[in-house]
Amino acid sequence: MKKIKEILIGTHNKGKIKEISYLLNKKIKKFTPFELHIKSPKETGKSFKSNSELKAKYFFKNSNFFTISDDSGLCVDCLNNKPGIYSARWAKKYGSFNHAMKKIILLVKKKNVNKKIKNTKAKFICSLTFAFSSTKKITTIGVVQGNISERILGKKGFGYDPIFIPKGSKITFGQMNKRKKILTDHRSIAFKKLKNKTNIF
Ligand code: IMP
Repeated sequence: MKKIKEILIGTHNKGKIKEISYLLNKKIKKFTPFELHIKSPKETGKSFKSNSELKAKYFFKNSNFFTISDDSGLCVDCLNNKPGIYSARWAKKYGSFNHAMKKIILLVKKKNVNKKIKNTKAKFICSLTFAFSSTKKITTIGVVQGNISERILGKKGFGYDPIFIPKGSKITFGQMNKRKKILTDHRSIAFKKLKNKTNIF
């Protein structure tokens, strides 16, 4: 396929828009659903992959632009991988990301009470789908392993960044230099795979 000149970043999440824009070649003209007045579809899928695919398909259909869509979330090992695909919905349910992060820290603490070896393991997963016709799409998955911090730390990034310490680091994504976070996270891992598979970005 030829290198693309324009793309719709199929999400209303401003954090994701910033990160995906940063990953995409500067020469590509980027559009968002805000400018095109397209609402988000219902996330009815049962996996990250099915949700990113339904979003990419929907935004392509409603714009006719090549579209890149992401479905992502935080999976906490001792909480049976919750909140997972419900990460955004947990923030709604508990009133804000701050409340949802406090809840996760509390649940992880409770699960580890009286345990000699604490399990604070977590991972961020991102499924990225590139839709280039109403039926054609390519999906890749990126995973970044880490641990849940004991406190909310840092004001950078978005969503659950302030409670996630990536493996090999001592600080949370929320404390990390933005560029470093973007270039090492689950989204960038999925994006590199997509770039290698398609050779169009
Ligand atoms: P959805 O993909 O629209 O269902 O939303 C995913 C949710 O997961 C976001 O609203 C964030 O709460 C969380 N999330 C996904 N990726 C990241 C990230 O890189 N940092 C922090 N939170 C994230």
